[in-house]
Amino acid sequence: MDPHRIDTKKATACKKELSKRLGRDLKQTNMYEDIIAGNVVNPQGIDVTFSSIGGLEDVKDSLYELAILPLQRPELFSQGKLLRPQKGVLLYGPPGTGKTLLAKALAKEARAVFINVQIASLMSKWLGDAQKLVTAVFTLAHKLQPSIIFIDEVDSFLGRRGVTSHEVMTQMKTEFMALWDGLTTDQNARVLVLAATNRPWELDEAILRRLPRAFEIGMPDVKQRASILQVLLKEERVEDDLDIDYLASLCDGCSGSDLTELCKQAAYLPIRDLLEQEKHGLSSGKVARKLKQSDFESVLMNNRSSKAAAFEYQSKKHYDKNNRDNIPVFTTSDFPFACN
Ligand code: ADP
Repeated sequence: MDPHRIDTKKATACKKELSKRLGRDLKQTNMYEDIIAGNVVNPQGIDVTFSSIGGLEDVKDSLYELAILPLQRPELFSQGKLLRPQKGVLLYGPPGTGKTLLAKALAKEARAVFINVQIASLMSKWLGDAQKLVTAVFTLAHKLQPSIIFIDEVDSFLGRRGVTSHEVMTQMKTEFMALWDGLTTDQNARVLVLAATNRPWELDEAILRRLPRAFEIGMPDVKQRASILQVLLKEERVEDDLDIDYLASLCDGCSGSDLTELCKQAAYLPIRDLLEQEKHGLSSGKVARKLKQSDFESVLMNNRSSKAAAFEYQSKKHYDKNNRDNIPVFTTSDFPFACN
């Protein structure tokens, strides 16, 4: 019986597309690998590189040596036992700080296939199937190497809760660990398991042992926020006098994701202005004006419009000694879209 009849159809289409993009034949795959192929992204299909990531310079440097080089230049690591390629790396930190972005950029930089393991797509009513799907993740990763198996929210799959909740989860976890160990012993395999979590404390010793290198991706400090804004605004039309450092100082407590949202909201303002001018027959051209400092500041102001937020803001506001005009510093609570 084929419990994934519908999925299989979709997977076959994905497989065809994937072999076309990879320029390789994927005929020798089984039905479970075909299903997993639906979660595979070819490096050419990834549109982010390390230069798309602001801040995190030290992490990027370490990942280059630790993950990219062994996938790209395995011959450099084939001598001796000191420099065995890593088979497991953990990225941990609050949501929206760029863990997934970093994982995708890593695959792009390493020119490795990115296999995004989604627990939901591994789950099956049929116990045996769940295990076979887990196996398929590893066998496909092997066939497509160099490859990165990315497990977002690894705690929900391999963490403590996973052990206690479901029998299927327990089986999948056991299978995953066994295959992962197989990978670790096979020094020639150019396959890396990259895991991410917001709750590292949910991971037990057994998992942490398999993820010997862990990087904290924390909330960005003011310098990192400035780098992130720099990256986000790199290709945008902005006024020359936009003071990115000052803007970064207004965004205390914001993650990269919050800053992205801020920039997106600000980018609408010149367009709104243009449309308004057109409405009154005042428009002199079809191009919206450049983004300016006040666009960002007004988004920040608007995002704390409700009375409750204003009250909370009053009680929380503080004045920064570096803050030029003694303007209140904004915090995550000023963003309805900010991380919880
Ligand atoms: P996480 O996986 O840590 O929850 P994501 O990688 O999904 O966070 O980040 C969400 C979005 O926020 C990204 O797609 C990107 O647009 C933006 N972002 C987060 N961190 C950064 C960063 N350091 N540099 C540039 N953009 C970032």
